[in-house]
Amino acid sequence: MNKKGCLVLSLDFELFWGVTDSRTIEKYGPDIITGRESIPRLLKLFDKYGLHTTWGTVGMLFAGNKDELAKYIPEIKPNYDNTKLSAYKHFETIGLSEEDDKLHYAQSVIREIISHDHQEIGSHTFSHYYCREKGQTYEAFDADTMAARKIAKDIFGIDIKSFIFPRNYFNAEYLKSLKENNILAVRGNQKHFAYDKNSIISRMFRLIDTYIPVCGSKSYYREECHQDGILNLKASVFFRKYYKKLWFLEPLKMLNIKLLMTIAAKKGKVIHIWWHPHNMGSDPEIFFEQIETLFKHYKKLNAKYGFESKNMGELAEEIINEKDCNVM
Ligand SMILES: [Zn+2]
Repeated sequence: MNKKGCLVLSLDFELFWGVTDSRTIEKYGPDIITGRESIPRLLKLFDKYGLHTTWGTVGMLFAGNKDELAKYIPEIKPNYDNTKLSAYKHFETIGLSEEDDKLHYAQSVIREIISHDHQEIGSHTFSHYYCREKGQTYEAFDADTMAARKIAKDIFGIDIKSFIFPRNYFNAEYLKSLKENNILAVRGNQKHFAYDKNSIISRMFRLIDTYIPVCGSKSYYREECHQDGILNLKASVFFRKYYKKLWFLEPLKMLNIKLLMTIAAKKGKVIHIWWHPHNMGSDPEIFFEQIETLFKHYKKLNAKYGFESKNMGELAEEIINEKDCNVM
């Protein structure tokens, strides 16, 4: 087993499909567009620091226009009790193509991402599917997963290997469907109630955890990732944007993440950092300044401890191959 520490980066790439139930285009559209337009700059930075990243991409973003997208909509759809959650309801309102609707189509962005080395396109489901919501079923999830795989394969020739649960609604029962659909790795959650529930208390804990690690250990060994025949590369840190109201705690946030990275590098553990491109919000400059600080820290750890950068698919393949070698 590789004993070197490893930094995994993943981004949830969803544009407006990730917030159709909770935000309006008027209020949140500008943040989404800023995030989208910042992707080329982000890619350059990944190149500069040799960072490998997984882009968990909503399947609907692969289509170039509405007719093409309609062809991939599965017959079995999630029948959420809360009908606001359904992407298919929202589908009626979207523009006809990427040219006139940059919030719901992203074929050109996906093309740009895959033109860079070591950038993996993973799945964030086809329809930003909510895996724990009442009303949806295993069959609907399975149909969604097949649609996500098919659109990526047909349009870009991509074989999806990595999967990110929307809203981090991890559902262990669905690993079977993912495995049958050739997915090697998922991004699960830390073992702490704050990362498993979405209550006010758990959100409060998660916020505190950004500055002071109150939710326990965040990095893990490669051997700990196996779950039901799939690799669970749990999220360690959600990279929060600069929070104006708590500006005085920002240095603590950065120190906390750097420390966690150093621990992973020294102990040969995996640390998985994630965010959404639109999390940089209205002020990309501060966001870029902060992530570049982390990337510089990665470089130091890389030189000193051989700390590596791998996307989810690469790390999953490495772990699977090592296990096979040990069995032989
Ligand atoms: Zn999402």
